[in-house]
Amino acid sequence: MKKVLITGAAGFIGSNLAARMLTEGYRVTGLDNFDDFYDPRIKRKAAEKLASFPDFMMIEGDIRDPELLDDLFRKEKPDMVIHLAARAGVRPSIADPQLYYNVNVTGTLTLLEAMRKAEIRQLLFASSSSVYGNNKKVPFSENDPVDNPISPYAATKKAGELLCHTYHHLHQFNIFCLRFFTVYGPGQRPEMAIQQFGRKIMKGEPITLFGDGKTRRDYTFVDDITAGIMAASDKLKGYEILNLGNSDTISLIDLVHNIEETLGKKAVIEWQPMQPGDVEITFADISKAGLLLGYHPGYPVDKGLKKMFTDQGMC
Ligand code: NAD
Repeated sequence: MKKVLITGAAGFIGSNLAARMLTEGYRVTGLDNFDDFYDPRIKRKAAEKLASFPDFMMIEGDIRDPELLDDLFRKEKPDMVIHLAARAGVRPSIADPQLYYNVNVTGTLTLLEAMRKAEIRQLLFASSSSVYGNNKKVPFSENDPVDNPISPYAATKKAGELLCHTYHHLHQFNIFCLRFFTVYGPGQRPEMAIQQFGRKIMKGEPITLFGDGKTRRDYTFVDDITAGIMAASDKLKGYEILNLGNSDTISLIDLVHNIEETLGKKAVIEWQPMQPGDVEITFADISKAGLLLGYHPGYPVDKGLKKMFTDQGMC
């Protein structure tokens, strides 16, 4: 039976991934510090659900704690690490760049060092479409230059990719850096647009849209992301950067109309100027992931929204 360590297993993507891997026969250890970026009760609930699987164990702790990692690797000896733990989110990274650096860069380095010592050399790293910054060429390809991040968050994810390459080169790690494009689905982080809009529209509260509504995002349903991660875990060899997106974009205002339609309720919209750090468009070229992983997303936005809000009991 394959044993994996998932960092950030109590989070949105981590808990969805852990459930899927457990269902498919993996043994999963989760590591999470249940930080207060958003209500930790949401993470506790997700961890409780995972605890019903006999092959799951959750360790509460911090990726920046080298002793804890040494101990964990000695006892659990996972075959592979899927590193999702991070401070996520573009806007809050501008308010507290030091914290983002500590968790996302120092934390990733601490993990890589502990893996080197334990001789575990299989790693999937959660990177982000934000590394493309305000890339003008669409769709975004893994070969495009990513030297112009426009938020501390994006810079920490790029730094993580660079550290991963260094450990591949020096210590023969096999590492895939997976650039996720705005992920949504059941259990999505509460501050993210779709989750926040859905909650507020249901309550009849106003939603705030930044910019003119024309910014475009490539929204990826979480089941497609977890399928991509699992395929990557099967093919993991060498060092690769891979986009995992839906490869379709929708404008902010059309997204809101789609949510309204799904929930059967009109949104009250308040407009605000575009926020610093926000990009105009994200749009994934997923041909490399298609070729290497057989990755083919199956959720257009309307189908994904329907599944998300139905699962959450909102429609
Ligand atoms: P999330 O915040 O729900 O999950 C992250 C988890 O990591 C949380 O449970 C948190 O408690 C944990 N964590 C944070 N700091 C930690 C630390 N120091 N030690 C141990 N655990 C810690 O976020 P998510 O949306 O599930 O994102 C998962 C990963 O995917 C992150 O690396 C994020 O940057 C990346 N990503 C997410 C998206 C998206 O749209 N959700 C897009 C691109 C990349």
